[in-house]
Amino acid sequence: MEVTVRRRSSLAVPWLVADLRFAIVLVEIVLFLLCSEAVNASIAEKPHQWHDPGEGSEKIVSHSCIHDQILEQRRRPGHKVYLVTPQVYQESGVSKPLHRKGRGLLGLSTSPFHQKDAKQPIRIYLNYDAVGHSPDRDCRNVGDIVKLGEPPANSLPGGPSCNAHGEPPVFSDCLYNCTQDDIAGDDKQRRLRKALGQTVDWFSRALAVEPVKGNLRLSGYSACGQDGGVQLPRDYVEGGVANSDLVLLVTTRPTTGNTLAWAVACERDQWGRAIAGHVNVAPRHLTAEAETLLSATLIHEVMHVLGFDPHAFAHFRDERMRRRSRVTEQAMDEKLGRMVTRVVLPRVLMHSRFHYGAFSENFTGLELEDGGGRGTSGSHWEKRLLMNEIMTGSVDTRSVVSKMTLALLEDSGWYKANYSMADRLDWGRNQGTDFVTSPCNQWKGAYHCNTTQFSGCTYNREAEGYCPIVSYSGDLPQWARYFPQANKGGQSSLADYCTYFVAYSDGSCTDTNSTRPPDKILGEVRGSNSRCMASSLVRTGFLRGSMSQGNGCYRHRCVNNSLEVAVDGIWKVCPEAGGPVQFPGFNGELICPAYHELCSTGLPPLSGGHCPNSCNFNGDCIDGRCDCFLGFHGHDCSKRSCPGNCNGHGKCLRSGVCQCDDRYTGIDCSTEVCDEQCSLHGGVCDNGKCEFRCSDYAGYTCQNSSKLLSTLSVCQDVLEIGKSGQHCAPSEPSVLQQLEEVVVMPNYHRLFPGGARKLINNLFNKQYDCDAAAKKLACWVSMAL
Ligand SMILES: [Zn+2]
Repeated sequence: MEVTVRRRSSLAVPWLVADLRFAIVLVEIVLFLLCSEAVNASIAEKPHQWHDPGEGSEKIVSHSCIHDQILEQRRRPGHKVYLVTPQVYQESGVSKPLHRKGRGLLGLSTSPFHQKDAKQPIRIYLNYDAVGHSPDRDCRNVGDIVKLGEPPANSLPGGPSCNAHGEPPVFSDCLYNCTQDDIAGDDKQRRLRKALGQTVDWFSRALAVEPVKGNLRLSGYSACGQDGGVQLPRDYVEGGVANSDLVLLVTTRPTTGNTLAWAVACERDQWGRAIAGHVNVAPRHLTAEAETLLSATLIHEVMHVLGFDPHAFAHFRDERMRRRSRVTEQAMDEKLGRMVTRVVLPRVLMHSRFHYGAFSENFTGLELEDGGGRGTSGSHWEKRLLMNEIMTGSVDTRSVVSKMTLALLEDSGWYKANYSMADRLDWGRNQGTDFVTSPCNQWKGAYHCNTTQFSGCTYNREAEGYCPIVSYSGDLPQWARYFPQANKGGQSSLADYCTYFVAYSDGSCTDTNSTRPPDKILGEVRGSNSRCMASSLVRTGFLRGSMSQGNGCYRHRCVNNSLEVAVDGIWKVCPEAGGPVQFPGFNGELICPAYHELCSTGLPPLSGGHCPNSCNFNGDCIDGRCDCFLGFHGHDCSKRSCPGNCNGHGKCLRSGVCQCDDRYTGIDCSTEVCDEQCSLHGGVCDNGKCEFRCSDYAGYTCQNSSKLLSTLSVCQDVLEIGKSGQHCAPSEPSVLQQLEEVVVMPNYHRLFPGGARKLINNLFNKQYDCDAAAKKLACWVSMAL
């Protein structure tokens, strides 16, 4: 068997032209070894007992996402965060059969985004094979002690030290004592399938993707996902998965605290899109009671797999199909007094402007979460600004999917979003640029409160609320000190300790089943059209009980461009700017909200940047002017044009869309497509240039060969042959040496066994130095040099 190893100087990947099937086996062996425990031998493996704190505790009302912590934990030296498996997306023009025995490693000579309209509803395939099948991870009987691989958010006092965030970090597994609630019995499994089925259905309506042609191909070299992961079924790896764009491997392993579920992507296609992921749902939360919360949680978690993930951001593509240089921007914000990471993607920015009514150029991007104390960020929207949006760090039953989140996925270049699937997000709506750029103690109205003495109305007037202010044992960070006392602030670190009215549990004005009946003495009514309003009303002959009760739930309607409110069935017209109205039979007055607060047309206020036709959502609206996206023009971005007249690499269709030649892609056909060898070797194609990126490997950095040579023994001459230049290698020299010992040498021996085969090789393949070639291959593939 011939093995020729060549190397292109422009690439940092081994450039193999070999029998493909042989190569597959090699890569398989190597990656298996890479991922084996030998690599992590230096990491202590001492389990700790985990005492379950949640025994019989109160009902969980929100889900705390641990995605950031999982990513942190996965960031270990030598640990590949995910695999790249190229997919076939459309006729390549080459009349090659697409199906082969084994993993089909086929090239693609055209891009999946060749035709803009070729996207179809995303097909997510759920695999439940691993449910209950891991003896050391799944709870099968009460009293079973299982490994708990999730990174515990907080170690309890006196509890285990298994903590990926400790000093020094401990990556070992915690042990978990199974209770009846942790066992995924038939009933829980039924709920699991129903909830995930609905999630998949929701995404198929919300996102379209270039469909994978033929079977979805998966690598399955190592376990997919977190917490020991899941081994891909053999037939998925050999034959692929039919009618799928993404496979989710489901497990039901226990979690702690109020983390209902978690999910990570584990394989991506050559464009960076997730094609396989691991979703874990804790059986404890598969109850009728938690159904609504679980639905929201699963949408949230699958969003992470699909692209709301800092690793995915690195692969996002623009309209030209080139890797985006700007997805997030980190900067010191003088007004907020701290470092801030903002998403600066074009559609995210555009939809944010329309949501907040922030049309000033001073608004440059939408903040990502930095709260939670560990400085990790990247996986969630800033709760202070998006509050009950589904992609903030905590999810509850009121969580909604906003256009901003769908826009983020669309800006990846992988999906087309259906914005009609977005819910209305009320928090921050039309609050203007100041809301997004100023500290929250400068916010107006119900968005800010500063005393616990009075109740008030929540920001959307749907409930009566209180102003929670907490005295912490330690001082808050400098930027979060909104009170003279350095330890006082709001109750949520995710929401930057901001203080705002929070609904009483029985304070809803819209919920007629509230445990607290409406106060007839005050003329209150609960119902879908009731809203919280300031009031001093009291029925004649009665006195108001509490001075703090300065508000109540009253019916409202919007008729003839006026806001009307009712007490005891009598409707009164409110002043447009809001103000007091009186009612017969009542002392005191009801304070009407302003007309626009409750009767908003949904359009941003006229002040600031009203753009023609909202730029048709084909461009950003800044100070009243449309800044159209590439491919759109006109004062309202309503017209299409072939940008650069397709740059001579395509045909401009009458619709204004470029149809690119085979070798080119992008909205303007300016982007060169790499040949099939690129993705075959896990490279990432960027404008015709195949790159192997260190950032895809945790703990690996680009290093000069001169620096590496001194630390290597076996692979030294391989590097020398490879000329000077940059290599992707573990940052830690000891890890590199370890890799040589435990991975490279065994691979080398497998690639080129001694004895008879060696003799035959020497006799018949004199022109090839197979021994050296095998060594090179082992070095390159094993160590990503
Ligand atoms: Zn999350």
